[in-house]
Amino acid sequence: MSNPDPLRLPDGSWALVDREGHPIGPVRYRAASAFSEGLAVVHRRDGSAVLVDPVGHELPTHGLRFQWILPMRGGTAPACTTDGETGSIDRHGQFSGDGEDPEWRARRELTRVSHLLYQRGYNASIDGNVSWRLDDGSLLITPTGVHLGFLRPEDLVVVRPDGSLLRGERAPTSEYRLHVELHRTRPDCRSVIHAHSPYAIAASIAGVSLQETYMSVAPVPTTAYARISSEQSPVAVRPFVEDYNWAILPRHGVVAWAANAWDAFLRVEGLENCAKTVLAARSCGPIEPLSPDQRIELLTFWGLEHLT
Ligand SMILES: [Zn+2]
Repeated sequence: MSNPDPLRLPDGSWALVDREGHPIGPVRYRAASAFSEGLAVVHRRDGSAVLVDPVGHELPTHGLRFQWILPMRGGTAPACTTDGETGSIDRHGQFSGDGEDPEWRARRELTRVSHLLYQRGYNASIDGNVSWRLDDGSLLITPTGVHLGFLRPEDLVVVRPDGSLLRGERAPTSEYRLHVELHRTRPDCRSVIHAHSPYAIAASIAGVSLQETYMSVAPVPTTAYARISSEQSPVAVRPFVEDYNWAILPRHGVVAWAANAWDAFLRVEGLENCAKTVLAARSCGPIEPLSPDQRIELLTFWGLEHLT
């Protein structure tokens, strides 16, 4: 398939057009470059830059926004974030700051989502913890007793796959066993986030199941009760690790696992929003559950038809 061309339209906006001059999809841009190595740089109407493929799909940016991006060359595109950091984007949309090694990049990414978890109210005080699995299998993880809202990249510690401390000033979070279990059993996931998000906890205390509505999120399992910071948490979550990417730990919090820290954060956020909405609906009266057909259709949509 040949690459589309950028075309300036009479209204001054830009579109990507096929060989017949028909725009690819309905999206219009402020500016668009020619394709280079299968990707074009476009500036959205808000001014931010992003890479798009020949069918108009944007490359994921994992929550980062860019002031500018230069055309792809040799598998990477030089770029500058809206925070003014320069670096390059690879073909998967992963951004690396100039001269940054993978561990430092992971430290910065975990710090970024930790701050967001606090700012969004998903963790307060010294609650919650986050981790990232490094290339050698060891885990970069928050230390015990740290406030995630004020975490610094250098505060994170490194533990061996068995949880023993490899590098760092402090002991790892007391929930390290939960992280170790998830990283061990889901090699496709590099990041785990545990939060004490209040609406999800409230739903579990009140015995309100989020399964009854589903809404826009995939089904959410609730594990058996496990005391915080104990060896019970990894055992409780084990039955759900393969089929799901998140779980509610009753009377305690939530845990989400994903290919990167941003996606794990999105899961925590989506889950908390679901819990908030369900509790709001419950406060107005009984909830009408999905019909059996709707339930099957939704599970199939999420690729979880085997759970029907
Ligand atoms: Zn906890």
